[in-house]
Amino acid sequence: MNSSRNNTLQIGDVHITALSDGSITFDPRILFPKDPLDVWEPYHERFPEYFEGELFKNNLGSFVFTSQEKHILADTGFGPNGKMLGHHAPGQLLRDFSKNGIKLDSIDTVFLTHLHGDHVGWNLREDLEDRRLSFPNARYRVHEADWKHFTTNKILNDENRGKTTKHSVIPVHEQGALDLMNGETELAPGVVAFHTPGHTPGHMSLLISSRNQRAVLVGDILGSPMQASETELSYSPDWNQKMGIEARNNILDQAETSNSIVIGSHLSFPGWGRIIRWEGRRYWKAL
Ligand SMILES: [Zn+2]
Repeated sequence: MNSSRNNTLQIGDVHITALSDGSITFDPRILFPKDPLDVWEPYHERFPEYFEGELFKNNLGSFVFTSQEKHILADTGFGPNGKMLGHHAPGQLLRDFSKNGIKLDSIDTVFLTHLHGDHVGWNLREDLEDRRLSFPNARYRVHEADWKHFTTNKILNDENRGKTTKHSVIPVHEQGALDLMNGETELAPGVVAFHTPGHTPGHMSLLISSRNQRAVLVGDILGSPMQASETELSYSPDWNQKMGIEARNNILDQAETSNSIVIGSHLSFPGWGRIIRWEGRRYWKAL
């Protein structure tokens, strides 16, 4: 729980390393089309690392959780190909693995919070022609409701949304490395996945609890740090707006009551903080 520049964190016996596929900058109105830019103005000072002028600067974070020799990777970034929200893919995740001395074949489980393109991008070696599994010794795990949703004909035939599933998810299944979850699942001692639908039908979060310390990886329930305060805004990537808002309120209530550290892929690197109250309002505050 050191300074925000440190990319490791210890929760009891669970060690966490924050990695990143890079970050992208975009106009907030792409994801919050109903809200004018001045909604974000009060947050410019609070989250200077999250803004470039009026634009959002979104981290594409992944996390490695180590518990009793088991290594769990949560999410695999956007990958090196294509464009995200009009921005070229930075594609830095594998380089960040080697920078941190973590071997790709040491990962036992690839936990996917959900099947959007910015969370599955390095499932396969996009930098190699054979596009083999990036994590050859891992079981890849996702909630079955996301697998069902993202493999319907409706999505597979949709040029944009279908591309991700066909390119980065179905090949994992075809290679026999995909395991579906249908509810709370312990991935390692003190690391438990649980269902938090709303952003997608099978969105999952991770509860890390060890020796009386707790953290929760919230996935895209918090697509930005401001959503810890502005929980009710509609967020266009959410599959179900009402359930998205409910999931956001529930997980923040739980995190606040239990004083858990809140970890998110799109929160500024390394992506962990606590929920605080200031003048009656709730905020996410980087550690
Ligand atoms: Zn995302």
